Amino acid sequence: MNISTTDKEIANYLQEELERSQNGLEMIPSENFVSEAVLDALGSIGTNKYSEGYPGKRYYGGCQVVDKIELLAIERAKQAFNVDHANVQPYSGSPANLAVYYALLDPGDTVLGANLSFGGHMTHGLKVNFSGTLYNAVNYTAKKDGYLDFNEIRSLALKHKPKLIIAGFTAYPRIIDWQKFRDIADEVGAFFLADIAHIAGLIIGEEHPSPCRIADVITTTTHKTLRGPRGAMILSNGKVSNPIKKVPRTKENIPTLIDRAIIPGLQGGPHNHTTAAIAVALSEALKPEFKNYAKQIVLNAKALAKSMIDEGLELVTGGTDNHLMIADLSNLNVSGKDAEHNLDEIGITVNKNTVPFDSRSPFDPSGIRLGTPALTSRGMKEDDMKLIGQLIARLVKNINDNNIKEEIKKQVLELTNKYPLYPGIKYN
Ligand SMILES: *Cc1c(COP(=O)(O)O)cnc(C)c1O
Repeated sequence: MNISTTDKEIANYLQEELERSQNGLEMIPSENFVSEAVLDALGSIGTNKYSEGYPGKRYYGGCQVVDKIELLAIERAKQAFNVDHANVQPYSGSPANLAVYYALLDPGDTVLGANLSFGGHMTHGLKVNFSGTLYNAVNYTAKKDGYLDFNEIRSLALKHKPKLIIAGFTAYPRIIDWQKFRDIADEVGAFFLADIAHIAGLIIGEEHPSPCRIADVITTTTHKTLRGPRGAMILSNGKVSNPIKKVPRTKENIPTLIDRAIIPGLQGGPHNHTTAAIAVALSEALKPEFKNYAKQIVLNAKALAKSMIDEGLELVTGGTDNHLMIADLSNLNVSGKDAEHNLDEIGITVNKNTVPFDSRSPFDPSGIRLGTPALTSRGMKEDDMKLIGQLIARLVKNINDNNIKEEIKKQVLELTNKYPLYPGIKYN
């Protein structure tokens, strides 16, 4: 008995979502399409088991098999990122960052992270997030051209003496110089967290330098460029003390501090179906083909950026080194919100985004953020990106012209029809 007969309402909605995905261009840079093998693991009986604790040290019986699953996920994570320790239990990226704070800081301690409007994440010190209420959050911005401003970051660090410095972004189109953050953290005696949620897949694919032997601790989601299930990991170097007992907050103790922060600190039972799916995604990412995938993501992003620039659009920092770019629409008299809405209507999914020193509000900013990981998973290449850049530019320049919109919508469908998504799956 499966969902198509037992729950027609949800089955119909899932089918509708599959068709929406099939018929559209998914360009939100934090999204992706996982393999059917990852879907299999995610929809598996792993969800049934309670296994609070860690392999070999559980609070429940019957964990012999889930231990093997978690150990394999951990081994693959260590291999993929070249680290000594991996915790694969965080429920998602935000709880993983919460665990790092909980492990390394006391409430009221100072953290230095990027401002949300300049590509930071809410968990890097936004005032309405736990990170900005329980901790004294100081935010860095960027230079006028959108590049990181290491003079500002260093002077804020010297002034505020943070205990934790965070690098890693949701909307930064350039290579991150991890060593510069490391040097500043060392100068002020701070821990250094690299949050590679967006670029984990590019790092495994060697398209972006790795922070894994530079930062003290690394958090990542598993569902963005890594192309796994929604989940997260915390990576670090050194050994976990055995038994896991309370230890001082030193660099050597970070693996133990992290494990204790996840459980008993913050979470209960791990999601074993997700752990299994993370292991599958990591095995895919360790294959040589994944390097080609990561490379194609960046080639596609560069081709898309070039096409949009050729059509007269302005990009923050003038282009991209990674999987994403931000188009600044302020010279076109179109807001990011209008662009997002109108692109959605023709089947191109992007999200509105602030540009550096935006004159508009974050709820209706001047830019849109676009990325290529999901389109690359569908098999699209540079020629497709060139066309998509032209379609986007044509739409934002003719935002009130319904005839043009209809034409573009047709072209989007023609393109998406060439790249079937999950042809073997039907929910209803
Ligand atoms: C996506 C993201 C997160 C949070 O991940 P969720 O799984 O959505 O909680 C954290 N940090 C950065 C930089 C991200 O891009």
